[in-house]
Amino acid sequence: MDEFDLIARYFQPLAFVTPGLELGIGDDAAMFTLPPGEALVVTVDTLVEGVHFPVDFPPAAVASRLAAVNLSDLAAMGATPRFATLALTLPRLEPDWLAAFAEALGVALAAAGMSLVGGDTTRGPLTLTLQAMGSVPVGQALTRGGARPGDLVVVSGTLGDARAGLDLALATPWADADDPLLARFVAPTPRVALGCALRGVAQAAIDVSDGLLADLGHITEWSRCGARVDVARLPLSAALCARVGLATAREFALAGGDDYELVLAVPPDRLAEAAQRARAVGVPLTVIGEFVAGAGVACHDAGQVFEPAARGYLHFE
Ligand code: ADP
Ligand code: MG
Repeated sequence: MDEFDLIARYFQPLAFVTPGLELGIGDDAAMFTLPPGEALVVTVDTLVEGVHFPVDFPPAAVASRLAAVNLSDLAAMGATPRFATLALTLPRLEPDWLAAFAEALGVALAAAGMSLVGGDTTRGPLTLTLQAMGSVPVGQALTRGGARPGDLVVVSGTLGDARAGLDLALATPWADADDPLLARFVAPTPRVALGCALRGVAQAAIDVSDGLLADLGHITEWSRCGARVDVARLPLSAALCARVGLATAREFALAGGDDYELVLAVPPDRLAEAAQRARAVGVPLTVIGEFVAGAGVACHDAGQVFEPAARGYLHFE
C-alpha cells in the first residue's frame, strides 16, 4: 500500500458531499464556496503522541480528541463547521490503527456536517494536525473581546469531569472504557450547536481547554475588564463529586482543562433568551458570576474570598 492507496482507502470515504463543496480530495488543492455574506473561520490544532496523548492511546480516541479540539474552537466562534483538512505523520503503515482512526474521525466529522477535503501524508513521529474551517455571518462571530462589566459569566454543561477522566486515561489498561468521566476526556463533546445558537445573544465566548480560570482570563484580558466567579455555583456532575469529593471537584472545575464547554458573556436582559436557545439544543447553561470593571478573575464562595489551589491547567503537557 502506498500513500495514494492509503488516502483512497481510509480518507476518501470521509469526503462527504456537503453544501458548497466544489473540489475535494485528489487535486492539488481543495475548493469550496461559502453562503453569501458569511466569513471563513479557520482553526488548526496538532496532537503529538507522548505530548498531547499517551503512547498507545487508542486510535479512535486520538481521532475523537483531534476532531473535538478543532470543532470546539469553531463552536467558541459561533461558526458553522464546514470543511476540514488532515495532515498525518505516521511512523509506519498500520492498517488496523488507520482503519480505527479514520472510522472515528469520520463519525465526528459527519456528526458536525463536515467534509474532509484534503490533507498531507508523511512519515515520522506520530503527529496529527486537523484544520477545521467553518463560517459565520459577517459581524456575528463570538470573539473573546466583547464582554462588558455587568454581563453574566455563563458556562455550558459541567466542568472538571475531563480532569478526573485524564487520571483514568493515564491508568492502563483502562479500568472501565464506558466510565462517563473517562469519556469526557477521551471523546469530548464540542458545543457546536450551542455556539451557533448563541450568535447575537452572547457578547463573547471561549471554549474551556486549559481550565476555566485560564480561559475566562483570556476573555477578561481581551475585553479589558475583570470577572468574579462564585465557586458555589460551579456546575459539577454527580459522577465527579462522587469520585473526588466536593473540594477537589471545585479545583478540577476551576483549573482542570479539556472540558470543551463554552464560557460566555451574556447581558442580564438576554439571559432568558440564551437559556431558551440552549434548551432547544439540549445543553444546560449555568450563571457562575459576572464581569466587572477592573482586571483579572477573582473567586468567592457565597461571598467569602476563595483562593483556588491552582490557576493554570493540570495537563500532562
Ligand atoms: P500534493 O503533492 O499535490 O501535495 P499529495 O500527494 O500530498 O498531493 O496529496 C494528493 C491528494 O490527496 C491531495 O488532494 C491531498 O489534499 C489529499 N491528501 C493527502 N493526504 C491526505 C490525508 N491524510 N487526508 C485527506 N486527504 C489527503
Ligand atoms: Mg502534499
